[in-house]
Amino acid sequence: MDRSELYSLITKLSAWYDKRLQPHAQHEGLDTFPVIDPLYNTAVAHLPIVDEQIIDKLALSCSNAQALWMSLDDADKSLRLHESARRIRDHHTIIAPLLAFETGKALTTECQGEVQLLGNIFDYFADAVSELAKETPLAGADAEAHPLRKAYTTRQPYGVVGSIIPWNVPLMFFGYKVATPVAAGNAVLAKLPEQASYSLLYISRLIEDLYPPGLIEIATGTGGVTGQAIIAHERVRKVSFTGSVATGRHVYRTAAQGLKPASMELGGKSAMVVLPGSDLNQVVAGAFESVRFTRSGQSCTASTRIFVPNAIKAAFIDELSKQLQKIKYGDPLDPESQCGTIVTRQQAERVNGYIESAQACGIDVRICRANIDEQRQRFPQANFVPASLIIDPPVTAEIYQEEVFGPVTCVLGYEDIDDVVEKANALEFGLSASVWGIDLDTCVAIANRLEAGIVQINQNAIMLPGFPYGGIKNSGFGKEGSVSAMIEGYTYEKLHVVNTAPYEPAVPVSSEQETHATDEAPLAS
Ligand code: NAD
Repeated sequence: MDRSELYSLITKLSAWYDKRLQPHAQHEGLDTFPVIDPLYNTAVAHLPIVDEQIIDKLALSCSNAQALWMSLDDADKSLRLHESARRIRDHHTIIAPLLAFETGKALTTECQGEVQLLGNIFDYFADAVSELAKETPLAGADAEAHPLRKAYTTRQPYGVVGSIIPWNVPLMFFGYKVATPVAAGNAVLAKLPEQASYSLLYISRLIEDLYPPGLIEIATGTGGVTGQAIIAHERVRKVSFTGSVATGRHVYRTAAQGLKPASMELGGKSAMVVLPGSDLNQVVAGAFESVRFTRSGQSCTASTRIFVPNAIKAAFIDELSKQLQKIKYGDPLDPESQCGTIVTRQQAERVNGYIESAQACGIDVRICRANIDEQRQRFPQANFVPASLIIDPPVTAEIYQEEVFGPVTCVLGYEDIDDVVEKANALEFGLSASVWGIDLDTCVAIANRLEAGIVQINQNAIMLPGFPYGGIKNSGFGKEGSVSAMIEGYTYEKLHVVNTAPYEPAVPVSSEQETHATDEAPLAS
């Protein structure tokens, strides 16, 4: 699809969304936010900021639809999720360009795969629907004395889940925060990310007839208005958030006010530990993918602290720089582009700010501009940010300590592996880590010592449906992406006890109490 086709598509999607909101509100009265094309930095559309009154109505329609959804049998629910997967895949030639257009992520290297991943997530959770029907029998401590008592637990959906979807991998998170809770029997009220609303509007329109009306309600808008109204709403019984640590703290406080369970997928500053004797070409290729340079590093699991033995540090930096110089930046919609733009001007300025302040502190920064200057001639307003290596920054430097969320990684030479493990664990983040080496026993031993929700050996970039995804410490809590994550994150445990024998009071009523009970007049309530 070219830009003009995409413009006409987003106009149609806006009209569809307006119509969808109409029963709930006088949409004309809503504030709007601009949708910016990150290649030209111009507003291409405006979308409504759904407010508290509309969220109230959407939450009610979610509640009603959830009861209907639960009345369907599992095979039926599963079929609808599989059919969603099929339709999403069938429409990849529209969804992938739409995603590239609005987020600036390159079509070929990023967006096409993300559409397939969303299809796979729907399929995976379609197969997990039957998990909910499972009963877990319990013996109970007095099982022998009471053989006619049957006890078991089941998992029950919370009801309405409030999901806040981030922009960096919006399709994957739509899978984790919509397909997963729906497979577990919930309705979902989801806030779409401001920077990636249209691809999710398209998908919502594509699959809406498969579900009871209201089961998947989507809201465009800002975090402070729309997101806040969702997480604070009394009908929302579980909050699922992905975003920054600062916003996560606020969201968690709001959830706590309503005593709601919450899962928090927050930022990261992941360590990549390269062991002595590693194959240079492999670890360079691994680093290239692990920092997600083709996504301009906009990944919470990006390897942004790479520890390399001093003996190979210079060669590693040279070789990685060479690879980075070969990246083809360009129009995200051009199939030849390997890397597009950063999502917003503001985010690009933030990343540049980190680099400039590192340089001002005298830190060695290698900037690999590749073909950016040439592309700037064609797209002067584009948010291109070159890949940068930050060599041996002090561990107190902000660029080492903080999540940059850009194509930037720190490379630190080392002699002592114990020192590396200590440094890797010293930050407050704990999302992911990776260990690279020839001897797998040594890799496993180091991996076991790293404090992170995900640790991979000789790879970092691979997250598949079925792998529980999530961090510890300031990277958050609660998992997504697996059956166990579905059960723990989107259902609660209910205990059932069925007594099939005549009722026997545990404490026999004494005759004295019986006399009192019959003689005295009941107390007024
Ligand atoms: P952000 O925290 O600014 O916003 C995240 C989302 O929260 C947005 O959709 C925003 O509209 C919404 N929001 C803001 N205020 C809110 C409120 N009061 N109530 C409810 N929702 C609110 O983050 P961002 O800049 O959009 O995303 C980048 C961050 O997300 C990075 O820090 C990154 O590490 C993190 N992230 C984490 C994961 C993970 O799984 N751990 C995945 C992707 C992104």
